[in-house]
Amino acid sequence: MNEVCPECGGSLLYDISTKRHTCKNCGLYMTKEELRRLTDEKAKKAPSKTERQSEYLQWWLSRK
Ligand SMILES: [Zn+2]
Repeated sequence: MNEVCPECGGSLLYDISTKRHTCKNCGLYMTKEELRRLTDEKAKKAPSKTERQSEYLQWWLSRK
């Protein structure tokens, strides 16, 4: 499995001895938990088109 940097999208290198991910591109250094949190936050900031469409659908259905 290839992890991707939440900041720049570069490939991450996992250091077994420190148990941390290091970005080869921007040098971001984080634990697995931090990486998951940052990736989640990034996903929330940019909602996908399908999510917005379902929100619209709920609004439309609630009008009736
Ligand atoms: Zn990076």
